[in-house]
Amino acid sequence: MLASPTSSSARKWIYPRIIKGKLYQYRSAVSYFFLVLLFAAPFIKLNGEQLILMNILERKFVFFGVIFWPQDFYLFVLGLLTFIVFIFLFTVVFGRVFCGWACPQTIFLEMVFRKIENWIEGDYLKQKKLDESPLTWNKFFKKTLKHTLFFLISFCIANIFLAYIIGTAPLIKIMTEPISLHLSGFISISIFTVIFYLVFSRMRELVCTVVCPYGRLQGVLLDNKSIIVAYDYERGEPRGKRVKEQENKLGDCIDCKLCVHVCPTGIDIRNGTQMECINCTACIDACDLVMEKIDRPLRLIGFKSEEEIKYRRPFKLSNRIYGYTAVLVILISVLSYLLISRSDVKTTVLRASGTLYQLRDKDNTVTNLYNAELINKTNGDLSFELVPEDKAAKIQYILKEDHLTYGGQAKLTFFVIMPQQHIKQYKTEISFKLLSKGKVVDRFNTTFIAPPNE
Ligand code: SF4
Ligand code: SF4
Repeated sequence: MLASPTSSSARKWIYPRIIKGKLYQYRSAVSYFFLVLLFAAPFIKLNGEQLILMNILERKFVFFGVIFWPQDFYLFVLGLLTFIVFIFLFTVVFGRVFCGWACPQTIFLEMVFRKIENWIEGDYLKQKKLDESPLTWNKFFKKTLKHTLFFLISFCIANIFLAYIIGTAPLIKIMTEPISLHLSGFISISIFTVIFYLVFSRMRELVCTVVCPYGRLQGVLLDNKSIIVAYDYERGEPRGKRVKEQENKLGDCIDCKLCVHVCPTGIDIRNGTQMECINCTACIDACDLVMEKIDRPLRLIGFKSEEEIKYRRPFKLSNRIYGYTAVLVILISVLSYLLISRSDVKTTVLRASGTLYQLRDKDNTVTNLYNAELINKTNGDLSFELVPEDKAAKIQYILKEDHLTYGGQAKLTFFVIMPQQHIKQYKTEISFKLLSKGKVVDRFNTTFIAPPNE
């Protein structure tokens, strides 16, 4: 990492050196997998639905082909809570490794934008030299080419981002139909494009070190047992350039600063755990290269816990890990149960306001009037039939519908008729099932009011 004196006086511009060590190769493979997944997911269909959709505007969410409507908001909140606890647990055990290996910000910056920059402007030294040099045709050409490509890629990311929010089909419409028909869509894409362009061309590591709240959580979540990218100071110190007669007095760190030069957030890992470290492992690769050259064991910098470095104790599960695991298991169990028992139709039944019961003397029955609202939560149309569980109960419709469109609603108004001799108490709990093609899609209860049979 080098700083450019020509860059903004307030900010130290970072030129990280790229070392293609073993971990960098693994990280590249993982990143390409996630990149393909990220771009392909909106085009993959499961059960006729987009693989992942987070349509906040219509409050419709799809995960792996299963639709969640506003009525399922509690599931969404519980799912989010489970995810947060999982991230907490993962961070307590493995530190911020998600940031370096799976976060879209790091993947795009390090594996797409940084690589294009290196391809056009050369390595970190050449980039710095170019920035410090006066404007020439060569510099103008390189900068224009780089920023044009940055802008085009930002445009692609903005489109994909929108595909996750509004869906692929509406996005294709925006792209293929006249702009005047989709002005708001066009403005959204333009705004997102500019935001992504600024993030990847200017803000860069500031997103991780200043904007992202997850990094700040590290101080609370990490402890001495967490496995993070760390410098083995017991082995490395006292650091210093190797001179023959001093060799025995020095640790393994030769103070070459290669680990600092490769750091994309510009920190020195030898100063201990820092909020800015995104666990990208670039410094591990760099130091391994040095250790190999000076014939010392690898992993002077590596995935280690403070306890391992200080007391040479191997990793042990802590009480915090047990606690988070227990909470996570409970949340996953509750969420799984709710998902499995989730009905295809949400039915709300209310007694018609201002009514109690009517006695029908001609056939010795009692009636209660109800209003029902049904919401289709499946990813298709649905025909349905309301059936009382109690064989003695009959239904007489005032307002009848028997079909629910995709995401649609239906309203029913109906009398429930019960023989008077069947009534044992003033309030009776009655149950219904909603059938669609012979399959039960929902069950619900309501109260039937009638004078008890004496
Ligand atoms: S790369 Fe390794 S040897 Fe070089 S300064 Fe960093 S820790 Fe020390
Ligand atoms: S200290 Fe190492 S792991 Fe952390 S951000 Fe810098 S290079 Fe990546």
